[in-house]
Amino acid sequence: MDDLLKKSRGLKTRIIEINNYTIPLLNSPMADTVSKIITKIINGVNKAKKDYKKEIKIPPKEVQFASEEFWDEIIEKAKTLGIGLIGFTPIDENFIFENDSISRIKFLYDNGIVLGMEMNYDAMETAPDTPAGIESLNIYAELGHTMNQLADFIRSKGFSAIVCHPLGGPILFPAMAVKANMGEIGRQGLLISKKYGPRQRLSMIATNASPLPEHTPEDFKIHEYCKKCGICIKKCPSKAIYEEPIINQDGTITHIDWKKCIEYFYKTTGCSICIQVCPFHKIGYKKIFKDR
Ligand code: SF4
Ligand code: SF4
Repeated sequence: MDDLLKKSRGLKTRIIEINNYTIPLLNSPMADTVSKIITKIINGVNKAKKDYKKEIKIPPKEVQFASEEFWDEIIEKAKTLGIGLIGFTPIDENFIFENDSISRIKFLYDNGIVLGMEMNYDAMETAPDTPAGIESLNIYAELGHTMNQLADFIRSKGFSAIVCHPLGGPILFPAMAVKANMGEIGRQGLLISKKYGPRQRLSMIATNASPLPEHTPEDFKIHEYCKKCGICIKKCPSKAIYEEPIINQDGTITHIDWKKCIEYFYKTTGCSICIQVCPFHKIGYKKIFKDR
């Protein structure tokens, strides 16, 4: 394979036996809405998979020069499509999963465009009840659809693009978002951004467009705040959030015991209590750090 293509250095993803779980909302009065959302998610994943197969048949041999104007256009297009957060960073092969069980993506291009879409504030306030569950699913569908549109736009400009769908995905999105200077990871393992706190879903497009727009690394002071807070740890109904995160041999950090989280997560279609109680969601970054 060509050097331009990045591949996993062995990071394992969690294999979740989804057949062991049912989605209770499919047996609720909201079943129709939920099944429409699930269909949209599946369509988004299928388009991303189909485009990946085409991309990888004859992949580009080298990066392709991208002007500042090109990036301005991408940022503008992303905004018009409803993307609230965008960041840029080279792909870190340490963050690529060895076994992407959903999209089956094995190779990525050099550079990453990390994207975040806000989950509705009022819906997330209801967590772990139905509106929050529906919104959690809905943003998988909306962000996945939007990313496919943005990737098509990038291709229409003559560049290559691989969509990493927010459901599953071949790369550790929060770690890439931190590299792209979009925020820091909270104690519940989610990205906390200035704009939405923990209330966003993330995904990424890999591209051969280069060089990426530059950014100045920022200290968001979120870790300092988290150290004193710990509300998510106290409120998690499954006691799944570690008091002290585990630093793995491969350098990645585990914040949550997924075996404990997953049962409640499925039972409630997304739980999200650790988003709902977080002050960066409730109060917001700007009010917490008035001086910043
Ligand atoms: S999603 Fe729910 S169960 Fe899982 S870690 Fe967050 S609060 Fe705990
Ligand atoms: S609830 Fe508190 S400890 Fe948990 S992520 Fe939010 S700020 Fe950090």
